Parts: sequence; structure tokens; C-alpha cells
Amino acid sequence: MIPSVLPTYARAPLSFESGEGSWLTTTDGRRFLDLGAGIAVNALGHAHPALVAALTGQANKLWHVSNLYEIPGQKALADKLVAATFADTVFFTNSGTEALELSVKMVRKYWYEKGQPERIEIITFEGSFHGRSTAAIAASGSEKMVKGFGPLMPGFTHLPFGDMEALKAALSDKTAAVLIEPVQGEGGIRPLPDADLRAMRALCDEAGALLVLDEVQCGMGRTGKLFAHEWAGVTPDIMMVAKGIGGGFPLGAVLATESAAGGMVVGTHGSTYGGNPLGCAVGGAVMDIVSDPDFLAGVNRKASHLRQGLEGLVAIHPDIFEDVRGVGLMLGLKCKPTNTDLVKAGYDQHVLTVPAADNVVRLLPALTISDDDISTAIEKLDAAAAQVKGA
Ligand SMILES: *Cc1c(COP(=O)(O)O)cnc(C)c1O
Repeated sequence: MIPSVLPTYARAPLSFESGEGSWLTTTDGRRFLDLGAGIAVNALGHAHPALVAALTGQANKLWHVSNLYEIPGQKALADKLVAATFADTVFFTNSGTEALELSVKMVRKYWYEKGQPERIEIITFEGSFHGRSTAAIAASGSEKMVKGFGPLMPGFTHLPFGDMEALKAALSDKTAAVLIEPVQGEGGIRPLPDADLRAMRALCDEAGALLVLDEVQCGMGRTGKLFAHEWAGVTPDIMMVAKGIGGGFPLGAVLATESAAGGMVVGTHGSTYGGNPLGCAVGGAVMDIVSDPDFLAGVNRKASHLRQGLEGLVAIHPDIFEDVRGVGLMLGLKCKPTNTDLVKAGYDQHVLTVPAADNVVRLLPALTISDDDISTAIEKLDAAAAQVKGA
């Protein structure tokens, strides 16, 4: 008999009842160190007092009114994002997938308004992940995600990740946009070198194509800058944000320049829930904390502490770990045994990690993780590696 919950997830047999900072407690009272943060969502850890105050404060006043009316909290959050980034304008969604959907629509409408409606080709990269909607699976093109769900939405060309020669060859006057994650998350914590992102920007400018960045996983302070593309010193035309921006409340956003967003006039897009008062109250509190340069300096300091510990593990366990990869607190351990064996051994050691493609174990801790907890993380990962070796 089919379970009451559609069985599309391979869940670990763990149920959590409460959380505080980087720690989660199960329904039977066991404590786990959380290095997954709900897949890079709980950017400020669990039950952060400022987020609890923002959510409960708003909950006592007003939850939802719809976008038929002005929403002051939505405008306040948009103003913060515009002030802190390349963007001139923001649309709020409830997820990263919805941010992908709008990004594709925005690109197509841009060229339609320019009198080139046939210019629909969006170049994307192998190993990418942009969500699970029909457009998003077509964008990533991964065999695993698209099989059985055809016909796929046309208009996407897939190139090897980071292959700049292939990109040069593929760009033409049919290219509407290039879409890329500056650091691939699901694909195995694969950062695009800064020089390549700069070259990509220049190539897009030459071809007249828009550059769309998916910072759903690598954005919101995760890499030690507010957004990952800041490391390269270039800006996109459109950017997808989600995960960390709501700190655990479902919230996403598309940020765009005035020019890229030019086609999106009244009636061209909408969302019932997107940007509702609850989500934007929490998002505003997250932004206030994460956009502070002192906070980001702390992320970079914690990141080098964690990275140093992980490099140590690779040195002690050369038969288990191949290398450490990633930027900031978006790190991956490339494994020699199956990555899920490490994740499962982690459960025995009461530490939570997240598997990714390319046989990588992902570490996406809360950006607020303490130095003590980083040391504990290394001890637990060391024990997990020893356990896998002994098995
Ligand atoms: C998670 C993710 C998405 C999809 O976000 P959802 O909120 O699950 O719809 C899109 N792009 C990237 C890079 C992601 O990591």
C-alpha cells in the first residue's frame, strides 16, 4: 500500500522535535550536531532569537493579505536587497524553483520586448540543479531528474560545467541567457573559478546575452560574501535567491536590473503567497544580520577554522577522503567509499551532513556555528571516518 506521504524521499530514520543553534534534539532526546542546516536553509541556526521575535511579532499582527494590497514588510525587504546588491528590483517567491520559473520568463520576455521573440536559448551546465518544476528539470537536463517526465520544455542547451571553450563556441545571436550556479551545490560543491565567472560575464556582454546566477544555495552569506559572485567582482543581470533568505521560513526571490526586468509589467507574473508578511518579516531579520560586514567576517573566520579541520581529516584518512572543496561555509568532502556510508556513519556519531553528486559529503552548517561546535564537528567526522574504515 502506498504510504500516506508520497514516497519520493529516501528519509533517514530520525525525527527531530526541537533545535537550538547548531543542535537538533530527536523526539527520544538524542542531540545531533547539524552540519546540514536543512540544506543550507537555517542560515542562522535553529530558533535564532531575532528570527523567532520577527516571526512571532508578525504572527500576532497579520499573516497574509495577498498581493492585491501594499505589503510594507515586502517593500522593506526589497529595499534592503536592492541597497545591498546589483539589483534594481525584486520579486518574492516561496522557493528556489519558483525563482527559476520567473527567471526563465523574465529572460524570454526581455527578448520578446526587444523584438527578438525567437531568441529563447538559455545555456546551462551539466551537474547543475535549479529545482524540480518542468522548466527547472529541463534547465538542469540531468538524466536522473528528467527521465519519464518528457516532453521537456525546449530552449535549454547543456554544456560541461566550467567549460569556457564550449561556452565560447555555443554563444550566438540565438543565446538569450547563460544560467549558472557560481558554486554548484547538489552537483557536488563545485565552485566556478572567479576568473571564469569574469570571463563568462565578458562573453555574455559580447554576445548580448543576459547572465543569470542561481545563488539559491551559495547566496545569503554562505560563501563569506553576501552573494558568491561578489568574490569575482562581477554582477549578473538576474539572480535567483531562496534557501537561506528565509532562515527556515519558505521564501525566495528574483533580483534583477531595471533593464533585465523591463518586460515584467503589471499582469505578467504573480504569486498568491510570495512576499507575504510572515515571510518578509523573517527575511528582513535574516538580511539585517547576514548583510553586516562584521557578521560576514565571522563567517570567513569560521570557514577557515572548519576548512583547516577538514584538511586535517583528509590527511589522517587518505583512504576515506580525497579532498576538501568549496568556499566559505559551503564545503564538501570528496569521498573514496560511497558518500552515503559516511553520512550514515555520521548519524551514529550524532552529526548531520548532506550527500551531494560526485560522491561528495556536503557541510553547510549554520553561519552562526561556534568555534567549539566546529571542533566537535571535526571530532565527530573523524569518528565517522574511522567507523567507515573499520566496517
Ligand atoms: C535548492 C535549490 C533550488 C531549488 O530550490 P527549492 O526551494 O527546493 O525549490 C534551485 N537552485 C539551487 C542552486 C538549489 O540549491
